[in-house]
Amino acid sequence: MIISDKPAYTPMIMQYLSIKEQAQDAFLFFRLGDFYEMFFDDAINASRELDITLTGREGGSKEKIPMCGVPYHSAEGYISRLIEKGFKVAICEQVEDPAAAKGVVRREIVRVVTPGTVMETKALEGKSNNFMVAVAEANEGYAISACDLSTGELYVTSFTGSLTLLLDEINVYLPSEIVGDERVIAELQKQPNQWNRPIVYTHRMPMAQERLMEQYGEAALQALPAARQRAVSLLTGYLDDTQKRSLGHVRTIRSYEPNQYMIVDQFTRRNLELVETVQERSKKGSLLWLLDQTETAMGGRLLRRWIDKPLLSLAQIEERLEAVDKLYNDYILREDLRADLKEIYDLERLVGRVAYGNANGRDLIALKTSLQCVPALTERCASSESDTLRSLVRELDACADLAELIETVLVDEPPVSIREGSLIRAGYDSYLDQLREASTGGKQWLAELERREREATGIRTLKIGYNKVFGYYLEVTKANLPQLPEGRYERKQTLANAERFVTPELKEKERLILEAEDKMVDLEYQRFIELRDHLAEHLHRLQRLAEVIATIDVYQSLASVSAEHRFSRPEVTEGYDLIIREGRHPVVEAVLNGRAFIANGTELQRDEAAMLLITGPNMAGKSTYMRQVALICILAQIGCFVPARSATVPLTDRIFTRIGAADDLIGGQSTFMVEMKDIQVMTEKATARSLIIIDELGRGTSTAEGMAIAQAVIEFVHREIGCKALVSTHFHELAHLSESLPSLANASMAVKESGEDVTFLRKLVPGAASSSYGIYCARLAGLPEQIIGRAYELLHASSVELGEAGGIGIPQTTAHDEAAAASERQTGSQTSQVWESAPVPASQTEPVADVMQLSMFGTEIMAPAPKSKKTAQAEQLAEQLKQLDLFNMTPMQAMQWLNEMKQKLGNTAN
Ligand code: ATP
Repeated sequence: MIISDKPAYTPMIMQYLSIKEQAQDAFLFFRLGDFYEMFFDDAINASRELDITLTGREGGSKEKIPMCGVPYHSAEGYISRLIEKGFKVAICEQVEDPAAAKGVVRREIVRVVTPGTVMETKALEGKSNNFMVAVAEANEGYAISACDLSTGELYVTSFTGSLTLLLDEINVYLPSEIVGDERVIAELQKQPNQWNRPIVYTHRMPMAQERLMEQYGEAALQALPAARQRAVSLLTGYLDDTQKRSLGHVRTIRSYEPNQYMIVDQFTRRNLELVETVQERSKKGSLLWLLDQTETAMGGRLLRRWIDKPLLSLAQIEERLEAVDKLYNDYILREDLRADLKEIYDLERLVGRVAYGNANGRDLIALKTSLQCVPALTERCASSESDTLRSLVRELDACADLAELIETVLVDEPPVSIREGSLIRAGYDSYLDQLREASTGGKQWLAELERREREATGIRTLKIGYNKVFGYYLEVTKANLPQLPEGRYERKQTLANAERFVTPELKEKERLILEAEDKMVDLEYQRFIELRDHLAEHLHRLQRLAEVIATIDVYQSLASVSAEHRFSRPEVTEGYDLIIREGRHPVVEAVLNGRAFIANGTELQRDEAAMLLITGPNMAGKSTYMRQVALICILAQIGCFVPARSATVPLTDRIFTRIGAADDLIGGQSTFMVEMKDIQVMTEKATARSLIIIDELGRGTSTAEGMAIAQAVIEFVHREIGCKALVSTHFHELAHLSESLPSLANASMAVKESGEDVTFLRKLVPGAASSSYGIYCARLAGLPEQIIGRAYELLHASSVELGEAGGIGIPQTTAHDEAAAASERQTGSQTSQVWESAPVPASQTEPVADVMQLSMFGTEIMAPAPKSKKTAQAEQLAEQLKQLDLFNMTPMQAMQWLNEMKQKLGNTAN
């Protein structure tokens, strides 16, 4: 006899275990009456994650089975919390009537909620997408498909290339969940998580071809290359498995080529803070934040997509710029459009809910009111002066029939629940109207009965009431009971101070009323579902409309921001030269809080200087300047005006940035290693149409090696790639490169010194800087004087050793200083504002034209004669003497200092 050591679980636990087999990677919410229960390890883990009590339940084994549960009606909150933590939740419901069940009630998983497929609106932030992606191996590359189930968007692309490219593309979607081919998923899992939130990985197999055809149609599928089909198949299969319902709103596959758009790798996206800031990873402070004056959630999401994917087609860019231009110049139209758009709800997500089958009466009313705003909106566009806007709304289907239908069927303010009646408008269904009449007539009859009985019995407090258990009753208080003739009513219920009665007549009426009400609720539900199903057949029309509305919204947003921040229309060309007059960094300018942003120009030209080597002090504004150039290119290519007096912007295929980002410590890489890797990608991928931005090239290793690498990289970019580049460095020695590299020019950020103070003028001037003013910045940062003094002393000693006179970072009058002074003379007195300490209010500097501008290529800057070594030495000594913290020195230290100085002077005296 074989004795099994498996516990003899009860049938229900056996059922639980077999269902759990199908959802091993999820918490199984197992419906038991009014609760979702969890057992075994799920219970232990969920009690910890959700902070709920762990109990036990007899289940046939020797020991109690760990158990915990959450009430059915408040499950959504618990599910959301688990999803946010990166878990999946499988919902298992009773799928037969417990009363009719023979044995254990049949249960099934009806849906698996996962981070990438969550549909509850609370968990979804309005203006953000919630993408999940599927990744597939392709010939020497990858295919990637991304879907936002809540809006129905589905994108797919493929490319040859390394995992880095795949990561870049994944990064565009910021997914919360990635599914795909086992090997790719394994490779991705090895990568450090750069997304700052949990990502759920699942590997799976593609789904059956027939099902795929059913979802998207044969033609659409056949238009896709095999790798893309595979990615879509992996994704759709996963949606099918988890959602277990038809997804009528995910039917259109948008296939795109990566080279349709400017390539902005993940580091560049982060460095330029396109959609979130580097530090806080928040939208506030990013380019998206500045540009987002959209009124609708779908407009907000589309804007982000435009920023993610700057265009490479001149015609498309011009089309967008034309609309922005017309709206820029038409304040009234802009404001009218904004007012219309304000009334429009998130159509994409409403459509998603209709398709998903969880839209309630209020959702459909929101859909109706949104649709009712469309005619005014489209009319404004149709009669506008913009060709782009006019063609956008030409022959647009405004879905007026759908709005009308909802209006005819639904009351204006339906309840949240669709199972309680009060949804359907009177006059829509005659049988429903009859039932309503029966119910209302019955209630009038009850009121009449109450009046009659009060009269007959003389009991003025006699009343008719209703409860769910006993139905309608007549209630008489104990005090009045003696007045009630014996046997008039049939006793039904005794309360502390009243008795409740019924009569056969009352029972009969009750049956009629309740039947009518039951039928009414059922019928209303039925009519509602018919309406929702009808709308579900027209999802593609609603989706197309939503897309147009989102586009109009983005246009008005770009135009409003451009007008508010005094941007100007760029001239986008297929040429090479990038010429910006009075360019500004749009976000830094916006957060300067009343202080003026100093505009700077840029001229990167094939025949003149295509590369700029920027030296100059710390804190002078180099990074800001370089970022602003990149942002202006991106803005132009998304079809927005740019923060400059004027700009000629050539189509840029790719922007590389290497901007002093923090160490990738989580990724286990040092700053230097990260820098080198970025540069490696750049050397491999950049073309002559790219823009390269490198901030502080060659730092993070020894000076000699750093400088050697910097020089070699600059030479490579110059000779091999030939693209436009901005490179900043603290190696002032590299300035000589301009002599051997004809397309390289030196520039620096001007400073103004007066006495001990240095003022950063934020002006880009031609020529190299002589100092980094690092120690000066260290003092500004509040380092103890002891350190500052000592640093100057060491710096001085080393420069004396090297026989240098300039470049030691002690405020002094340098060549560069003279250049700045010359710039000031050239541009007027405003430059001389020490605006770090005495800010210039923005109002004083408007319009932009008044923000003075130094031409980088101005000719009036005079190169002053270098100082003699002796003068410089004397000035430095005087400076150090001033810094000396005598009160914190012993007499012996003071003597030593004097002696050292004497020796130094002696060394250089000859
Ligand atoms: P470091 O070499 O130390 O990294 P940096 O030269 O790159 O410094 P930025 O970080 O670009 O300097 O600028 C320092 C600060 O100066 C910015 O945070 C910004 O507030 C301000 N700033 C930069 N450029 C301008 C400008 N053109 N007009 C006004 N303020 C500016």
